[in-house]
Amino acid sequence: MKLKFCGAARHVTGSAHLITLDDGYKILLDCGLNQGGKDAWERNNIWHFEPSEINCLILSHSHIDHCGRIPQLVKDGFKGAIYTTHATRSLCAIMLLDSAKIQERDVQYYNQKILKKKKNRNKTKKYTLREPLYTSEVIPEVMSRYIGYNYDTPFRVHNDVEVEFKDAGHILGSSSVSLKIKQGEETIRLGFTGDIGRNERPILRDPVQMPEADYLICESTYGGKEHELPPAQTDKFLSCLHHTCIEKQGKLLIPAFSVGRTQEIVYMMDQLYNAGKLPKIPVYVDSPLAVNATQIFGAHPECYDEALSEYLLVDKDPFGFNSLTYVKSVEESKAINASTKPAVIISASGMMNAGRIKHHMFNTIEDPKNTFLIVGYCAPDTAGGILRAGATELKLFGEVKQVNVEIEVMESFSAHADRKEIVDFISNQKSSLKKMFLVHGEHPTQLKFKDYLHEAGYPDVEIPGPGQEFEL
Ligand SMILES: [Zn+2]
Repeated sequence: MKLKFCGAARHVTGSAHLITLDDGYKILLDCGLNQGGKDAWERNNIWHFEPSEINCLILSHSHIDHCGRIPQLVKDGFKGAIYTTHATRSLCAIMLLDSAKIQERDVQYYNQKILKKKKNRNKTKKYTLREPLYTSEVIPEVMSRYIGYNYDTPFRVHNDVEVEFKDAGHILGSSSVSLKIKQGEETIRLGFTGDIGRNERPILRDPVQMPEADYLICESTYGGKEHELPPAQTDKFLSCLHHTCIEKQGKLLIPAFSVGRTQEIVYMMDQLYNAGKLPKIPVYVDSPLAVNATQIFGAHPECYDEALSEYLLVDKDPFGFNSLTYVKSVEESKAINASTKPAVIISASGMMNAGRIKHHMFNTIEDPKNTFLIVGYCAPDTAGGILRAGATELKLFGEVKQVNVEIEVMESFSAHADRKEIVDFISNQKSSLKKMFLVHGEHPTQLKFKDYLHEAGYPDVEIPGPGQEFEL
């Protein structure tokens, strides 16, 4: 059998790995969107395989960098089933629809810019207009292909292939994927970590170790470092909130993925509210997707950890408290944007490169009384990544803005295991592993992680490049 790395190869986004069995049957693991960076559009417009030849897709979780190209795959001829957990299926229903709308909007914006250029500057130069990767029309067809499974319940996708999901503790419904593949007399055990979560995180259970494998495809987002602090650092959060909204009378802007990070922050604030520790400041979740995602969180208690199950006995709504407003309409969002009163605004996207957060940034970035609190990973080329790196100015909607706002970073919210936590997670694999493939990491980080893994006793570690194929 063969294993080909078709995305998130020396990059963090665009997860896609292709297994081809000896009989030609093709299984794709993840089909994620490339995000951030000048070449993301180009990378989203090539496949390292023929979509119509893929027999089935197995999806680790619902983050867009893992599932965001599925509608495009279907549009381009994929006819097979999509296997994932029940909660991931539910989340994909809203995330892919949202992604389609973003595709449509982004392309419209880009084309308008190109047409303007054409009119104003060089009439003879050739300008190419873009088509969206997919539109919302394809989503019902996409969702009809999903087949949900529980964790720890092996199932078959082919006579010779058994699959099992284990809870990865990364976001609601997230899983690692373990495959037992019979090839002739031999059974090859292939593991794909998906994205690995962390112990002691809110809402979710701790990551469950995968069964032993011969080959492991392992994420490496934080392979170059260790997180400074354990999860849920509420004291730092409270002091940041107090400093911004009470002392400076400003706005605290928190860019957060609509799915996962938003619910974690809201749940933490809900606990602070119940403990009487939350200052009386209006809190807004300004993301229509987050509103729908929160409802889905409520519908999947099978994914909750023990602490949340117990908390539900005293508070029926862990994602709602009196001073919290979920904002759906554009008018309401604009009104919050126009207001100069202290407020906490949680909005998407988490990397600050799309969505309503950009409008909030545009209006607050030049005033030092405001604070941006970055609570998650931001790819280096995204606005969040640029701000984290200490930029003094930032281009927003074609306008250069001075960065006068305070930038705070809280790594403790990270949903990704650091290098030590990854090594702990795979510790049961040590004697069985023949080879590890590092994916889902920036290349310099992966090189550091490879050295770290060598020291930890994993001698055979590959960092595959895009389109690279291995015979297993
Ligand atoms: Zn993820």
